[in-house]
Amino acid sequence: MENEPGTVVVIEDDGHIADLVSMYLRRDGFRVVTTDRGSVGLERAAQSGVRLVIVDVGLPGEMDGFEVCRRLRRRNDLPIIMLTARDDEMDRILGLELGADDYVTKPFSARELVARVHAVLRRSSATARADELQVHEIGTLTVDTGRREVRTPRGTVALTTREFDLLSYMAANRGLALSRRQLLDGVWGEGWYGDERTVDVHVRQLRKKLGDAFSLTTLWGVGYRLD
Ligand code: CA
Repeated sequence: MENEPGTVVVIEDDGHIADLVSMYLRRDGFRVVTTDRGSVGLERAAQSGVRLVIVDVGLPGEMDGFEVCRRLRRRNDLPIIMLTARDDEMDRILGLELGADDYVTKPFSARELVARVHAVLRRSSATARADELQVHEIGTLTVDTGRREVRTPRGTVALTTREFDLLSYMAANRGLALSRRQLLDGVWGEGWYGDERTVDVHVRQLRKKLGDAFSLTTLWGVGYRLD
């Protein structure tokens, strides 16, 4: 079914944006369902064939985009892209913490959003396959989760358990913005309590040990993205 684009649910109350986004998605072969209500979007997202949900943070009515995201996550891991207001760092952080896969900041080009849709879908199908694959090739870096080994052009690099787990988590989610909280939940476990700066400390170690082979972008106020 991977070659079938499937359906994208667009929850957005700005009719102009919804139309434009739908047009671009349809052009790429997706079926599109649009609604301006969070509650309706949730219903639509439960129907078969839905591959991804795009949801605006600010929605009219009883349910905003965050609540939609929260409820979708409670249900399953259907990919979610949030549309956030420009420069609203809190929105971006909260969206990622609630489990959105990515966010796009308004104003955005429909072309960029559709590129993100493809990236998120590629990533989610790759994550589903990750158990069989277990070897991530990222540029000149090889992360072998089966052998728990990291190779760079200069040879094998020794990492601590936590450093390795952090790197493989990022590798499995590469190309996606990851908040510190997401990284803590994914690597340290959801029950882990502590400072989010712990992530930064480990990232610093990875940068030191892996050097140029490790192309990690720091997303100011949000977290990191492995490219
Ligand atoms: Ca809105």
